[in-house]
Amino acid sequence: MTRGLLLALAGLVLALMTVAACTTKPTIQGASLATVQAHIDAATRAAGSDLKPFLALCKPAPATRPKGDDHRLAALIAKPAPPPGKAFDNLYFLGDAWVSAWALDTSDGIILLDALNNGKEAARLIEGGLRQLGLDPARIKYIVVTHGHGDHYGGVNYLVGRYRPRVVMSDADWTMTATNLEFRSAYWDAPPHRVKGRDIAAHDGEAITLDGTTVTLYVTPGHTLGAISPVFDVTWHGVRHRVLEWGGTGFNFGADFARLDAYIASTDRMQALAQQQKIDVLISNHSSFDEAPAKLARLRAAPDGSNPFVIGTSAVQRALDVMGECARAQRDRFAMVK
Ligand SMILES: [Zn+2]
Repeated sequence: MTRGLLLALAGLVLALMTVAACTTKPTIQGASLATVQAHIDAATRAAGSDLKPFLALCKPAPATRPKGDDHRLAALIAKPAPPPGKAFDNLYFLGDAWVSAWALDTSDGIILLDALNNGKEAARLIEGGLRQLGLDPARIKYIVVTHGHGDHYGGVNYLVGRYRPRVVMSDADWTMTATNLEFRSAYWDAPPHRVKGRDIAAHDGEAITLDGTTVTLYVTPGHTLGAISPVFDVTWHGVRHRVLEWGGTGFNFGADFARLDAYIASTDRMQALAQQQKIDVLISNHSSFDEAPAKLARLRAAPDGSNPFVIGTSAVQRALDVMGECARAQRDRFAMVK
């Protein structure tokens, strides 16, 4: 029996165990172990040897939204953080061992992408990390929250209290965090609206610009209904590259066919966009997917060599293909037990 078939069977068993909680109707006919396996095979081919971390998404996802697990979260936060690092001339990694924040530097200030789990982490890893890299955290002008889960917004209120940056989140995720928060944890500070109210609600395709550096905010629903995937230019040794940060990756929303369909549509859309805009860099807000700390270590060891964050447009598209195929496999698993 192949490993893939075992995975598919495990997914079916898991889905059968939790089917009672499913509330939405499937949108697919003819789902079977064979179609699940075909999607896993397609994802595996797309991943090749260089994008294997994304195949973690093809593991069976639970049919109900998992409860927050504070013990797991505490353990993740307690892991030693990788050092902060310079990924491009104007893009910096600031993360713990699990979740990442990124700082895009301009001469008019810093656009921060996400704010980690809480104020303590924001102080240690964002403020501390920026200073270690020679950047002044008082220059943070915007914080873009890629989606409304606490590992991305938890440090926002601390930074707003210190530096008064504008806070950008999608309209859908401002609403979700204010009315129907999907996950809670004692390790996350309050959602941003509780301190300063709703700030900038981004709609699909809107952009923020500082000193001629434009970050276009694509709303890519799936992981949350309002996950934002920012797209922007960076340079490396003076050469321009175009970056996509995928706004939310895991399927931790249960057997929700509309979410999975939206996720698939988002990956299809961004594959086309990657082609149109010649996006050649894909970064993540969780380093288990983009392996940012290992890439930064390679850059530190060989600063004049090629930049491992530049993977090329076809690899960016393949990564999106892996995510889309894993979503299709998951949709078929859930559809089989409806
Ligand atoms: Zn999330």
